Amino acid sequence: MFLLINSQVERMMQVLSIKSGATTKECPSLGKLIVLTGPSGVGKGTLLRALLTRHPELYYSVSATTRQPRPGEIDGKDYYFTSRSQFEKLVANGEFLEWAEFAGNYYGTPREAVLSQIRAGKSVVLEIELEGARQIRESFPSARSIFILPPNLVELEQRIRGRGQDPEEAIARRLRRAEEEIKAANEFEVQIVNDNFEKALGAVEAAMYQQLAEVES
Ligand code: 5GP
Repeated sequence: MFLLINSQVERMMQVLSIKSGATTKECPSLGKLIVLTGPSGVGKGTLLRALLTRHPELYYSVSATTRQPRPGEIDGKDYYFTSRSQFEKLVANGEFLEWAEFAGNYYGTPREAVLSQIRAGKSVVLEIELEGARQIRESFPSARSIFILPPNLVELEQRIRGRGQDPEEAIARRLRRAEEEIKAANEFEVQIVNDNFEKALGAVEAAMYQQLAEVES
């Protein structure tokens, strides 16, 4: 049982069960889990939003983060924005399916919200960074994965800078991390280069539905 600190955590609690610790073995895979990963700035968030518009049957898991909200981001919709101490309590209580530290902030996937959607037969999509994707692969071997690549590093840097929302130090960290993440692309079942948005979206859609069909067969 964990302590409710403020309204953000209360809202998060509405989708998290107090008691957690379920594993895939306890939770037969009725629905399916798809992991979309790739470096920051590669456009996976934009691809995901387009995918959700086209496929409202998919469930998008809203993550928790200790990062400050960017202009326009809404608590509970884009992320559950929490403090580090709140996040650490949630980690200690086993409330995350996976979590990682990225560019100085914590990010995590609420466990129970995802598992209950899967139990209900829904396909769930996670949009997460490399370390979290690796954790999912370990704990959820039946999950399918797609890695989004930038056309090149110069373009990626332009995209990260073009957002104009992150401080210089965060941009530098994200770029360093991006190089590491790109090296791990081969760990994932499908790699898609996001050089043309419509083409990349079509490829993600095709890969995702092919992977979902494979899980069924
Ligand atoms: P941003 O700060 O740009 O929103 O996200 C930074 C990175 O964290 C992105 O690569 C994003 O995919 C990843 N991320 C978002 N939510 C989660 C999560 O719940 N777990 C993990 N491991 N990474 C996440």
